[in-house]
Amino acid sequence: MAEQFAEVVFPIPLRQVFTYRLPPALESLAQVGMRCFAPFGHRQTVGFITGIIPRAPAHVKNLKSLDSLLDSEALLTPDLQKLGKWIADYYYCSEGEALFAILPMGFVKTKRFLVLTPEGLQNKEKVLAVLEKAGPMRKVSWETLGEGTVLLSPRTSGLTKLLKKEGLAALKLEGSVASEETGLKKGYEDLEKGPPLHNQQQVALDAIEKNLNLDTFHTFLLQGVTGSGKTEVYLRAISTVLKKGQQAIVLIPEIALTPQTVDRFTRRFGDQVAVFHSRLGPTEKIRHWRRMASGEAKVAVGARSALFAPAKNLGLIVVDEEHDSSYKQDKAPRYHARDAAIMRAQICKATAILGSATPSLESVQNARLGKYTLLSMPERVNRKALPRVKVVNLREEWTVRGEERPILSMALEEALRENLERHEQSMLFLNRRGFNTVTLCLKCGAQVHCPNCSIPVTSHKGPKGVFLLCHYCDWQGPPPETCPTCKDGAVQQVGLGTEKVEEELRSKFPQARIARMDLDTTREKGSHEKILDSFRRHEIDLLLGTQMIAKGHDFPGVTLVGIIGADTGLALPDFRSSERVFQLLVQVSGRAGRAEKEGTIYLQTFNPDHPSIQAAVHHDTEAFWKGELELRKDLGYPPFSRLGLLVYQHKDEKRSSRAAEDAAAYLKREARSFGVEVRGPAPAGIFKLRDQYRFQILLKAEKPTGIRQLIQSLDSKFETPTGVSRAVDLDPQSML
Ligand code: ADP
Ligand code: ZN
Repeated sequence: MAEQFAEVVFPIPLRQVFTYRLPPALESLAQVGMRCFAPFGHRQTVGFITGIIPRAPAHVKNLKSLDSLLDSEALLTPDLQKLGKWIADYYYCSEGEALFAILPMGFVKTKRFLVLTPEGLQNKEKVLAVLEKAGPMRKVSWETLGEGTVLLSPRTSGLTKLLKKEGLAALKLEGSVASEETGLKKGYEDLEKGPPLHNQQQVALDAIEKNLNLDTFHTFLLQGVTGSGKTEVYLRAISTVLKKGQQAIVLIPEIALTPQTVDRFTRRFGDQVAVFHSRLGPTEKIRHWRRMASGEAKVAVGARSALFAPAKNLGLIVVDEEHDSSYKQDKAPRYHARDAAIMRAQICKATAILGSATPSLESVQNARLGKYTLLSMPERVNRKALPRVKVVNLREEWTVRGEERPILSMALEEALRENLERHEQSMLFLNRRGFNTVTLCLKCGAQVHCPNCSIPVTSHKGPKGVFLLCHYCDWQGPPPETCPTCKDGAVQQVGLGTEKVEEELRSKFPQARIARMDLDTTREKGSHEKILDSFRRHEIDLLLGTQMIAKGHDFPGVTLVGIIGADTGLALPDFRSSERVFQLLVQVSGRAGRAEKEGTIYLQTFNPDHPSIQAAVHHDTEAFWKGELELRKDLGYPPFSRLGLLVYQHKDEKRSSRAAEDAAAYLKREARSFGVEVRGPAPAGIFKLRDQYRFQILLKAEKPTGIRQLIQSLDSKFETPTGVSRAVDLDPQSML
């Protein structure tokens, strides 16, 4: 056989394909889609084979040979390989970074055994001679070699080399990834019937099913108010897909991925559901992955990475809460799971459903342009009214009550008291954890910052008293006696966090059963579910929390929701801050009055006239879209443009600044020919993070292609100075 070569990529930022010689022993085994061990630098590194070619590129000298294979068959289906390539191209990362993000077993080593070849079996003397030469090794003998039970390890590597060289032994891989396809049970039926659909659900489902039966790619934007029955529409569409013998994927934001949510899928589809979430260990993850690959499981439900479930015959992808910012991965590959899901649906000729009560403006605009079909469900199931929203102007309240600066307005306090007396449940929302959010000098006014980050530290009350904590790098320290800036003034703690609200609630309502849910009370495994469960069983009267309590949960007993401070987040220097606040307020409000009794929202704010707040108060999504889209159009921000963000960082401020300046100078010179506008460099919103100084350059264009090509052109001319790290973020979701 003629010589063959393998093209291999590695999970490193270098966007390059490496060529290796395929040793004769691997020629018949190696396949595109397998992982391999390849010499890289001074060691053997895990790589991924993207091509088998008959000729090595002429310019490559001193080709090295591939060492061995880690898999006995291709791990990724062709559509996932294509998706990996798209992610690498679109998000400007290396193909290796993308492919290893897709694989759940990236670096999990398959066990490799040494077995005798037919030649070895016929040459006992030769084998024994090699064994003797290699010196005594426990557990390696003629017998164990014959049984194929000698596990490869660094200790046996000398022996392995000798035996392989003589052709007496070969490597055998353990297990295989995709087992036999089990196929669909004949005459598939759901385990449980759903309720009869109401009209708006039926209209939406009809449109979706029509497309499912065409087996073509299309995207639907299902905009339904909280409690309108979107999940029921997903379930019906999945059922249709299963009856066609296909598979489905459902993405849900991690925070909303509770046993209750998953339960709705398993009640209907039983053990055909495979659940993916970040708390799964690698073994469990691989098990579910294999169940999807073999077709034993047909519905993958999970957070961001469930998008990569190896469905062989994908009919449908659902992205619930499509606006959720956790769908964007914040390290390379910086893909947006919603957009990658649409891409995967397109590759597989599948249907995509994006669902939300408050869709992102990007999706709204795509629907307006006719790229997506908008399906609206403006009414709650059984025509239950949306909760009434009462606005409390904190500016007035504080003027009237002077020095007191209350946490709870009189109206909200009264409503909470009445609700407790009626034995009804309430939720209180504040999107700031900790006790006080700012430590301030009374003399010079400086805030106490984290020593590693340019972020004000939050005070927390622990068992040993008050301590300061950085929410970005987890630095902890005692509160200073005097101001670290002027070394003179005394410091004071101000700014409201959930711990302080909890203290206030306990003193105001000593009889009430109160629980707090935020990052600090849910660190332990299972604690998140424990709080939600006991709230659902009405063992808690008052649940207080951050955005953790806002999403997706269905608590039929809640009739009152208090929003302690609706303004948190409005002042962030990010063009999406209004959109985020609006979405969060609508989500929180949606928790009230989901069952028989009506719900009421008290929304405390210093900015009652802000468009985000007004639109949330009146449940007027259309008005918000209209106003916000006009604003974005005027400013030329997405969805009317595409953005790319380059972030340079180094622990020496001058060095990161110079690297960014140099890059920006080149980018600005070349920008016009790529149709790109360049802004910056400017200190990033979070200027110092974990002791690194950060400068960012913003690239803006009508189409993403120009941005990518401009960065490519930069990289072909300049190298980022050694030591300076540079991140490329296409379609960035955070500008900080
Ligand atoms: P969403 O996902 O839009 O918030 P859900 O699908 O969770 O809404 O529906 C809200 C509640 O209404 C759930 O308890 C669900 O079981 C119920 N429900 C959904 N559709 C119907 C229907 N057609 N008839 C009766 N109840 C329904
Ligand atoms: Zn910090």
